[in-house]
Amino acid sequence: MIIVMQAGAAAREIEEVQAEIRRLGYTPHPIYGVERTVIGAIGDERGKTRLQALEAMAGVERVIPILKPYKLAGMELRREKSLIAVSAGVVFGGPKVPVIAGPCSVESAEQICAAARAVKAAGATLLRGGAYKPRTSPYSFQGWEEEGLKMLAAAREETGLPIVTEVMRESAVELVARYADILQIGARNMQNFDLLKAVGQLRKPVLLKRGLANTIHEWLMSAEYILAQGNMQVVLCERGIRTFETMTRHTLDLSAVSVLKRESHLPVVVDPSHAAGRWELVEDLALAAVAAGADGLMIEVHPRPQEAWSDGAQSLAPERFVRLMDGVRRVAAAVGREV
Ligand code: PEP
Ligand code: MN
Repeated sequence: MIIVMQAGAAAREIEEVQAEIRRLGYTPHPIYGVERTVIGAIGDERGKTRLQALEAMAGVERVIPILKPYKLAGMELRREKSLIAVSAGVVFGGPKVPVIAGPCSVESAEQICAAARAVKAAGATLLRGGAYKPRTSPYSFQGWEEEGLKMLAAAREETGLPIVTEVMRESAVELVARYADILQIGARNMQNFDLLKAVGQLRKPVLLKRGLANTIHEWLMSAEYILAQGNMQVVLCERGIRTFETMTRHTLDLSAVSVLKRESHLPVVVDPSHAAGRWELVEDLALAAVAAGADGLMIEVHPRPQEAWSDGAQSLAPERFVRLMDGVRRVAAAVGREV
């Protein structure tokens, strides 16, 4: 339910309504607007009619139901776009389009530092690299885990780039959160609800990738799991979905960017690397994503792609990433954004 307060409702009245929402077993999510405050009352769907009685309280204008099932991720409660700040000057959802770049896996201290220096020189805003790798085969490299996180932290130390890295299991959330500036939930874990609840307990940005075969609706419901725990810093990431097409690894669903702009206030990043699976396609798709209104990009870049331990075929060599960034700057300018 949305409790719409009267314009000019007193702070005390807003407090009293929130206390009553809590007493009824719901969680209040106040949104303080310029004109008026609205309070989302979020919780068990059963018995929500009891909230209707709040209409009689002082300062309340009306109580209206939230129709969409993604109550906090949707636009009914919050219309303005969410700004997710990672560090000074790195914000998702604003006029700038942050670019997350780096290798699929952290392989060595030398490799991740070389990648960090290269992507920074080309203008990337954040560094990526996996220390926990969700691999199709159990015999493939699984990641250096905490050692990898330390290598990422050293690369951040040297370049100043904030780091984005994946957390695959609940038991590692605390450890990964100690190193990461943004925790990534991978496509394969998009519906690992216990993991979503665990990152929901953090007060740190989470990059939620779309599952390989999940609808936008399911993706928003997964975001809702994180938001419902009180962590409002969620960035969505479209990374391609399974279709019948075999010429690309997955099919990049750019319509998701456009749909999400209408359905959610959360920023959307596009990862053309995992969608294409082939480096030759990455630049075109990245430009299209920015033109479509993406709030950021995630690009796999490796100092020597032919030697990469994972996803080499889709990784850009540094000089190709420089080219991509030039194009991204031009397209961003054409659509009123900047990198
Ligand atoms: C990755 O970012 O390296 C990754 C494994 O991505 P996804 O979960 O989208 O496959
Ligand atoms: Mn990868």
